[in-house]
Amino acid sequence: MLSVRKKLVVGNWKMNGGQSQNAALIDGVRGSVPEGVDVVVCPPYPYLAQVKTLVAGAGVGLGAQDLSPRKGGAFTGDVAASMLLDVGCEWVLVGHSERRTLHGEDNRLVAEKVAAALDAGLTPILCVGETLDERDGGRAEAVVSAQVAAVVDVLGLVAMAKVVVAYEPVWAIGTGRTATPEQAEVMHACIREGLRVAGVAADGVRILYGGSVTAANAASLFAMPDIDGALVGGASLVADGFSSICAAAAAS
Ligand code: PEP
Repeated sequence: MLSVRKKLVVGNWKMNGGQSQNAALIDGVRGSVPEGVDVVVCPPYPYLAQVKTLVAGAGVGLGAQDLSPRKGGAFTGDVAASMLLDVGCEWVLVGHSERRTLHGEDNRLVAEKVAAALDAGLTPILCVGETLDERDGGRAEAVVSAQVAAVVDVLGLVAMAKVVVAYEPVWAIGTGRTATPEQAEVMHACIREGLRVAGVAADGVRILYGGSVTAANAASLFAMPDIDGALVGGASLVADGFSSICAAAAAS
């Protein structure tokens, strides 16, 4: 059965890049973005405007890696959703595990950021995922369900249906250790079922997998019925690898 959800592949450049590397990377991706897949890149803040120009006509959307929950004012170092929109973003990552761990972002703050993104007209990509300790302790589904539920509580059911969810087991991010397609599918199905039970129109919600996705493992992940694409870190920094992941999404 064909999925009703269009596949989405998002490149999270993290704190990598520079004006010449960015130009070379987008140049390498241009021309190989397949039909029928949404492709997005999320560069660091200083390069958003540059990359907006670079992706023109390439079939690649622009996203940011974080945002403030506030609208503006005396918040040094923060960036408001309206500013992201102003420089051409349509997407924004929220609650990436590196934000949760290194910057102490909790479920409540993450939910407020998701709400701020939606209010401004951006599509938030809500990142959730358990640590290795939590998985080994049998708490993976409870942890991830609580992360999603915290956002549903703040947003309500209708707004939640507009959010993209990215399941990223913390133990798989940047480690080269990918969840097996079966492990990922179990969690994706659990997230979708949790949304459905809460009353969200869950069949339309795209749930991406993230965690050491590469050209070699993408196709087997995309073959799973509840995996609607990927959030890609390291492999999004190499044009050929990223293009191959996009091609695998198109072929699935
Ligand atoms: C990420 O940063 O969201 C990520 C999944 O990284 P990597 O693909 O490098 O594991």
